[in-house]
This record gives sequence, structure tokens and C-alpha cells, in this order.
Amino acid sequence: MAAERTLSIIKPDAVAKNVIGQIYARFEAAGLKIIAARMTHLSKNEAEQFYAVHKDRPFFKDLVDFMVSGPVMIQVLEGENAIAKNRELMGATDPKKAEKGTIRADFADSIDANAVHGSDAPEAATIEIACFFPALSIYSR
Ligand code: UDP
Repeated sequence: MAAERTLSIIKPDAVAKNVIGQIYARFEAAGLKIIAARMTHLSKNEAEQFYAVHKDRPFFKDLVDFMVSGPVMIQVLEGENAIAKNRELMGATDPKKAEKGTIRADFADSIDANAVHGSDAPEAATIEIACFFPALSIYSR
């Protein structure tokens, strides 16, 4: 199977906890390569655009406020079944329901401060990667 790409964001709570390296180690141990990465502090506009699919949900405003509350670490992961593999590493949206040993079970505090984002489908991955990384800044290897 051809290598797949997915967009991952280490959210402000996990950046503040200083666990970027521990999360990267999990990606690498699972065979996912980090082929682009950047730390940034999202603007309100960027966070709103990124989560536009959720704009009518009751949690949208809190989600945007949380995503702009501190810097985030954004990366493109590449590997076989990268989208599903990353979702598996992340665990369920609500850390209370996330399986033991997943990133959210180990590092997240609540459903809103839940440590990581990962694209959930190929179409979403393509759009989300393009939000943050021009093609020439992605180093497939
Ligand atoms: N979210 C929230 N409250 C909810 C559901 C979702 O704050 O009841 C936030 C949470 O940070 C989640 C994000 O909205 O990660 C996107 O929701 P989605 O259902 O896409 O979950 P994910 O794909 O991140 O697991």
C-alpha cells in the first residue's frame, strides 16, 4: 500500500505539559515519519477556519478559545495507514473513554483539552495539510 499522510496537531495543553518529545516517540515507534513540522500560535481566525466543520456545534467557541490559548506543534505524519494509525495512537476524543496507553489516556485532561488532533479521513488530511504546509516544505523520504 502506498504511504499515506495525515495532519497531526499537538494541542496547547500537551505543549504546556512539555510532552512533545514523548508524543513524537510514539509516532516513530509506530512507524510514522515526521515529514514536516512547525510550532505556531494559532490566531482566532486560523483556529475558526481549521475547525469550520464544527462551527454549529455547541462546543465550537470553547474549542477555538482553547486552540488559541498557547502554542501548538503541527506536523505531517507519513506511513502505511497513517490516518488510522495516528487515530489509534491518539485514542478516543474523551480521554476518560480512551484506551490505556493511548496519547489521550496518558496526557489529556478532558474532552476539550485532549492533547492532540489527527485527520479522520483522506480528504480531510489533504485539506488540513494544505492549511499549514506548502508542498515544498514537506520532506517525504
Ligand atoms: N470537542 C469538545 N467537546 C465535545 C466534542 C469535541 O470540546 O463534546 C473538541 C475536542 O477538542 C475534539 C474536537 O472538538 O478533539 C474535534 O471533535 P471531533 O469530534 O472531530 O474529535 P476528534 O476527531 O478530535 O477525536
